[in-house]
Amino acid sequence: DDNMDYKENQKFADHMKVDQEQKSEFSKRKTLKQQREFLPVFAVRQQLLNIVRDNSVIIIVGETGSGKTTQLTQYLHEEGLTKYGMIGCTQPRRVAAMSVAKRVADETGTELGEEVGYSIRFEDCTSEKTMIKYMTDGILLRESLREPDLDHYSAIIMDEAHERSLNTDVLFGLLRSVVSRRSDLKLIVTSATMDSQKFADFFGNVPVFKIPGRTFPVDVLYSKATVEDYVDAAVKQSIQIHLTGNEGDMLIFMPGQEDIEVTCEQIKERLAEVEDAPGLAVLPIYSQLPSDLQAKIFQKAPDGLRKCVVATNIAETSLTLDGIMYVVDSGYCKMKVFNPKIGMDALQIFPVSQANANQRSGRAGRTGPGTCYRLYTDRQYREDLLATTVPEIQRTNLANVVLLLKSLGVENLLQFHFMDPPPEENILNSMYQLWILGALDNTGQLTRLGKKMVEFPLDPSLSKMLIISEEMGCSLDILIIVSMLSVPSIFFRPRGREEDSDAAKEKFQVPESDHLTYLNVYHQWKSNRYSGQWCAEHFIHVKAMRKVREVRAQLKDIMEQQKMKLSSSGTDWDIIRKCICAAFFHQAARLKGIGEYVNTRTGVPMHLHPTSALFGMGFTADHIVYHELVMTTKEYMQCVTAVDGYWLAELGPMFFSVKETGKSRGEKRKVATEHLKTMEREMKEAEEELKRRKTF
Ligand code: ADP
Ligand code: MG
Repeated sequence: DDNMDYKENQKFADHMKVDQEQKSEFSKRKTLKQQREFLPVFAVRQQLLNIVRDNSVIIIVGETGSGKTTQLTQYLHEEGLTKYGMIGCTQPRRVAAMSVAKRVADETGTELGEEVGYSIRFEDCTSEKTMIKYMTDGILLRESLREPDLDHYSAIIMDEAHERSLNTDVLFGLLRSVVSRRSDLKLIVTSATMDSQKFADFFGNVPVFKIPGRTFPVDVLYSKATVEDYVDAAVKQSIQIHLTGNEGDMLIFMPGQEDIEVTCEQIKERLAEVEDAPGLAVLPIYSQLPSDLQAKIFQKAPDGLRKCVVATNIAETSLTLDGIMYVVDSGYCKMKVFNPKIGMDALQIFPVSQANANQRSGRAGRTGPGTCYRLYTDRQYREDLLATTVPEIQRTNLANVVLLLKSLGVENLLQFHFMDPPPEENILNSMYQLWILGALDNTGQLTRLGKKMVEFPLDPSLSKMLIISEEMGCSLDILIIVSMLSVPSIFFRPRGREEDSDAAKEKFQVPESDHLTYLNVYHQWKSNRYSGQWCAEHFIHVKAMRKVREVRAQLKDIMEQQKMKLSSSGTDWDIIRKCICAAFFHQAARLKGIGEYVNTRTGVPMHLHPTSALFGMGFTADHIVYHELVMTTKEYMQCVTAVDGYWLAELGPMFFSVKETGKSRGEKRKVATEHLKTMEREMKEAEEELKRRKTF
């Protein structure tokens, strides 16, 4: 067997060598069909189809790049399965869904959005004709609300199962019962790692098929001493590789967008200082990067330059890059984790797990032997890194999941069939949050508000804000604000022009609210006929604004379907602030000193983010609510609105008297159940208090 592998590898290496030597000629002549037939999965195509025919659920394991994501959908389509319904393939990441759909459309020689399409939140690129549909796992989860048996699909491929994203984990539970009801549905679960037996057991001891892989040895080199600054270390390492190493592209793993941008800048800067340095094509990749720039990472760099891709963990298994010989691993990634101190999820930088680290180094051995530089010590790898990452379902807020499952009629969430059940107190805390928002009643049932909230693909607080804006007479205004909050940064601040861009931004600022500042920007853009020129002049991302407009249109559609009244409060911005307060009173802070706030509920100190309209202005607000927290050296509140302290007392009195939870697990659980009991009592008290106030 080993011998076979060796021969196969050698053949492949020779092939690559030819490819390298005759680069331009050969790759031009190599058709997409030939490329498809060269993938490892092609060699087992018929075997695979046989297993799929004979079983309703199968698990497929294969190295990254073996062709799972791009080929399986096409094989099933070629076999005629799409006669009975679409083939859906879920991805935990938006970028992967888009990029892979584009690739498959190219391979099938069709326009993207026709036979092959994709769907991600707020962006549906499919049509009547679509037979192969790539989508985020969140989209399929929402589709199951409308169509519990997913009747439009003949097959579902749950890709990247090893990622254990929150939505994938919930889908596992749901699909397990869908396949028991629909014997005609094919369910394929794919994973890049070997922990597949767990998936097989979960679905009732179903077959596991392993795609024979091609991998080359990777030399793993550790850093000798602890690295203080991983960006700096990565920059140095990559320049050294570039100046002294052999041919081959480079892949650098960074935790997030900010670090990626700095790394790219610094590599270019430092290389410019080296005399006669050969050229290097430095390319970033992260989820918010515009898609035309994303596509670049797959292309060969022009003029035979070496390519250096700086990526988040998206390049770990979701996207496959060919020709990588060097990997530089910072050892960190960003993860969403529930932070009990602030009572909500926060994106934070964490060390990767050993499993991540091994996937990362594996990226260097796809097309030939490679080298991986780990920017941490051997001892850190062995002693500090967890073996695998904790699944998202066990570390994040579950409010949206609870809302969704409740509306699917799952009565007792503690008994739902999860592969790895979330801690009970997570579920109870999320239920508590939904109760606070008024989405659940005292018995844990969905309220009318809760049922309406499910209709919107938004976080619970945002959907609540949109729904209550109707009766407050400002639904059109809140619609714009919610849309603005659903896209990443609107303002840009180019290097060297910081002062100009800050001055431009200041003109939009409404001193008491970032939310209103957003509303203001949108109104002005609209009165300038949605002009791109206007955006450029005011240091505003035109693409982001166009996205806002699309999101707004889609949310407006849902509001119209729900027969919601659309009206604007005109210039009465107090109403809008009150509406924001009504949905975010659980994220409030009280002024303590100059620029210093404390969380009204937990007493934790918090700071205004320097980008806030309220920051450093003459105006100080005694009470504010915030949209989110950014954790760096301090806790920064981002997107803030000044509110009246009386509104807070009126809108959420029961909330502020709830005490912090205890320390140990058992104690926490006791407190969580206690919470549920206390809620009922406090709710009554609050009602009485309000009645009393009204009589004065
Ligand atoms: P797997 O899912 O098993 O990791 P894929 O199906 O994603 O493998 O990749 C198979 C091949 O298709 C790889 O060689 C990869 O480079 C190529 N490929 C995938 N997406 C693109 C794309 N957007 N552009 C160019 N090539 C791509
Ligand atoms: Mg894949």
